[in-house]
Amino acid sequence: MILGTGSAWDTACVQLADAVRHLGLDDGMHDLLRTPRRSISVSVPLLRDDGQLLVLSGYRVQHNLARGPAKGGLRYHPSCDLDEVKALAMWMTWKCALMGIPYGGAKGGIAVEPGLLSRQERERMTRRYAAELVPLIGPDKDIPAPDVGTDEQTMAWIMDTYSTHTGHTAAGVVTGKPLSIGGSAGRAGATSRGVQLAAFAALRELDKEPRETTVAVQGFGKVGALAAQYLHDAGCRLVAVSDVKGGVHNSAGLNPTALIRHVARGGDTVVGYPGTDTITNAELLELDVDMLVPAALEGVINIGNADRVKAPLIVEGANGPVTAEADRVLTGNGTVIVPDILANGGGVAVSYFEWVQDIQAYFWSEDQVNDRLRELMQRAYREVSALARERRVSLRTAAHIIGVARVAEAHRTRGLYP
Ligand code: NAD
Repeated sequence: MILGTGSAWDTACVQLADAVRHLGLDDGMHDLLRTPRRSISVSVPLLRDDGQLLVLSGYRVQHNLARGPAKGGLRYHPSCDLDEVKALAMWMTWKCALMGIPYGGAKGGIAVEPGLLSRQERERMTRRYAAELVPLIGPDKDIPAPDVGTDEQTMAWIMDTYSTHTGHTAAGVVTGKPLSIGGSAGRAGATSRGVQLAAFAALRELDKEPRETTVAVQGFGKVGALAAQYLHDAGCRLVAVSDVKGGVHNSAGLNPTALIRHVARGGDTVVGYPGTDTITNAELLELDVDMLVPAALEGVINIGNADRVKAPLIVEGANGPVTAEADRVLTGNGTVIVPDILANGGGVAVSYFEWVQDIQAYFWSEDQVNDRLRELMQRAYREVSALARERRVSLRTAAHIIGVARVAEAHRTRGLYP
């Protein structure tokens, strides 16, 4: 949890309890579904370039394995702790089940500010963390992917470390890899493409034209920048974006391609981009826009600011950006929220495609990947929307009911060992 009140773990537990109540599951099943199967803490000693020894804390949580191997991202962020990783792992479990892909949920992290490390330090830290986890990860066990503060190169180092330890190249141990070592076409933009597809499905239901839709995106990283780009390309008017240093606003519209180029060329931040007004992250979240896409960190919309959020549609690119308390305020106000486990499910969908391609050693074209992504996203959205209407619940509750029911069903079918 970064901002406001209500931790990510509390929010995840409230959401699970809500689904459990709707499904009428008993206390034993509720406990089984809430409790992580494995929570691992590792120390990651890092020799800095200047000879100083730093001992960092790393985590990997495998929340549930009932439907398949564990799957989930790896985060490098200073506020990362075991509770946050547990929440993110739980959301992965429901997300994989909702998307209909045969994985359980996991997440990992190291409490570190990666921007303060050199590339060599990041490589040593990543390889040491991966080495600690070698017995627990693998294509059939647990498959990490990029998240906040990690990227394709991080995945390449993990894949190489794991492969070196096991004595053979194991491309399927991670997803979100570079194409040269078994990555998938379309993976880099998959989460954002899924956000755009989910946003457009919601706009259709609200009877709103993309051309009449103004959008603000918080977070200009892997998910936020391309979500801004795809929404702009599909006709929406992007009026504000932000990163950790602040935001920019122009009511006439921003050009995401130019902003992405500016940041990639070492601009470091969107703040100060010519022709824009500078705003804070808090101001961005409260802009009078038609659609808000939080794509940074959890807890940014909380009880402290929920009643000032004006956007009638929130599409959650980030995991857990709205706390459980804020969710009650917003849904009470009639705000439509496309929840994280649906809206950003495109990332894990294409990670699944990447894993399938690695196992088969047979690779698909970008068009094939994007077509199958669209199919999965649209099916998941349809199922959630239909259940929300049938039960008169929010999209978040409906999404959780579907995900949790599928995992509970897998537990019942497998039975309990011993
Ligand atoms: P990233 O590290 O690439 O980008 C994060 C962005 O958020 C950066 O622009 C950073 O400056 C900004 N940011 C960080 N702290 C901030 C703060 N306090 N206020 C405002 N902005 C801040 O990370 P990402 O991979 O784009 O992930 C973003 C979110 O999307 C996370 O919640 C992540 O779990 C979720 N997600 C990512 C993927 C994926 O494929 N990468 C998939 C599903 C969900």
